[in-house]
Amino acid sequence: MNPANYLKIKNKIPSNVNILAVSKGFKSQEIITIQNIGQNDFGESKFQEAFEKQLILKDLKQINWHFIGRIQTNKIRKIVQNFKYIHSVDSFEKLQKISNISCEEEKNPFIMLQVKLTNDPSKGGFNPELLIAKWEEIKELKNIILTGLMTINPKGLSSEENLGLFKKCRILADSLQLPDCSMGMSGDWEEAIDAGSTWLRLGSLIFGGRS
Ligand SMILES: *Cc1c(COP(=O)(O)O)cnc(C)c1O
Repeated sequence: MNPANYLKIKNKIPSNVNILAVSKGFKSQEIITIQNIGQNDFGESKFQEAFEKQLILKDLKQINWHFIGRIQTNKIRKIVQNFKYIHSVDSFEKLQKISNISCEEEKNPFIMLQVKLTNDPSKGGFNPELLIAKWEEIKELKNIILTGLMTINPKGLSSEENLGLFKKCRILADSLQLPDCSMGMSGDWEEAIDAGSTWLRLGSLIFGGRS
């Protein structure tokens, strides 16, 4: 992990686009290194791994933790208790459960709904038509702050294909009046910016290769 690397990336990104530093697979010491140079948003995809780092880093109150991994229903309470943002809400049932638990826990997590824009069987998410059909019901849910949509593009697409999918996500978010789009990773962040991403989820680009 080289801080100069992080600063180089940060300088290339427009100021209205946020960087989520995806620290899964990296140690808390590496989080401290870039937290020291101004990065406060960190993304993790496995609850247990994240929680261990959260305990070590509990005195760094400026850190905002984002959950970006597949949500297991039996982990929802722990996720609600320990994360300010949840990017990967992929079904109405889980969203309802997050809302119910947030009421009980007196929390108000920021929520991004994961959308499924291709038939990639390895990725979950709301089907866009279903999301629109359910929208009035979704808006009624308590104790969640619906802030945007999230998408993960399949690997191996051309630059044009990546851009096209990201634009679909942006158009859908705009139609629902959601400000945020969590899209773009280390391999496709430039297209994501061009399409109107507000949260780039960057792991290896910042921290280097994962073992
Ligand atoms: C791991 C991960 C990332 C970051 O991936 P990189 O290619 O290392 O930037 C982004 N989003 C999700 C959902 C991830 O699981």
